[in-house]
Amino acid sequence: MFQYSNQRLIINCQVKKMVWAAKQMVPFLFGTATFPVFIFLHECGHYLTGICFGLRMKFHYAEVGFTGAKEKFTPQVDALVASAGPLVGAVFMLVGFLWLRRLRRHRIEAVPTARDWLATSLAMNVGRWLRGFTGSPSQPQPNDEAFVSHAIGLPKWFLPYLLGMFAVVALALIIRLHPPRERLFPFSWMLLGGVAGTLLWMRFVGPFLFP
Ligand SMILES: [Zn+2]
Repeated sequence: MFQYSNQRLIINCQVKKMVWAAKQMVPFLFGTATFPVFIFLHECGHYLTGICFGLRMKFHYAEVGFTGAKEKFTPQVDALVASAGPLVGAVFMLVGFLWLRRLRRHRIEAVPTARDWLATSLAMNVGRWLRGFTGSPSQPQPNDEAFVSHAIGLPKWFLPYLLGMFAVVALALIIRLHPPRERLFPFSWMLLGGVAGTLLWMRFVGPFLFP
C-alpha cells in the first residue's frame, strides 16, 4: 500500500514537471518563430517604402541598401524610408496589444493559450525600443529611431529614450495580462526563444536567403 502511494506520488511529480516544461515550451517556440519574422518584416518596411519613392533597393537579411537617382534621395525620403521599418513593428505591437487585451481582459487568471501567446508575440515588438537604454546620448540606439529623431529636428537621443520609456510601460501592461504567478518564467523563455530565433536568422537562415 505504502509502495503504491509512493509510486503514484512519483508519477504525479513527473506529470507536473512535464506540464511545467510544456508550458514554458510554448512561449519559447513563439519567440523562436516570430522574432526572425519581425526582423524580416521590418526590413520589408524600409524596402517597400524605398521602392514607392522610386529608389533602387537591395534587400539584405538585416538591412536594406538603397541607390538610385540623386534627386530622388531627398532628406524627407531618407527619413520616411528610415521610419518605415519601426512603423511596421509599431503596427504589429498595437494590433497585438489590443488583441491580447481583448482575449484576456476578463480571464487574466486562465492559463494562456497558443492564441494568447501569438497576440503576446505581436505585442512584444515593443521590446525593440528597450534598445534605447543600451545606447549613449552620443551614440543612441536603435539607429532608425535616432535618425528619425534628428530628421524631425530633435536631438538624436530624444526619440530612442522616449520610446524606451514607452516600452517599459507597455511591457508592464502586456505582462499584467498574463496570470500573476506565471509571468517570470514564461516571459523569460519567450525572450530566450527570441534570442535563439534572432541568432538563427542572423547567422544561418538570413544570410542564406538574402545574403
Ligand atoms: Zn531598420
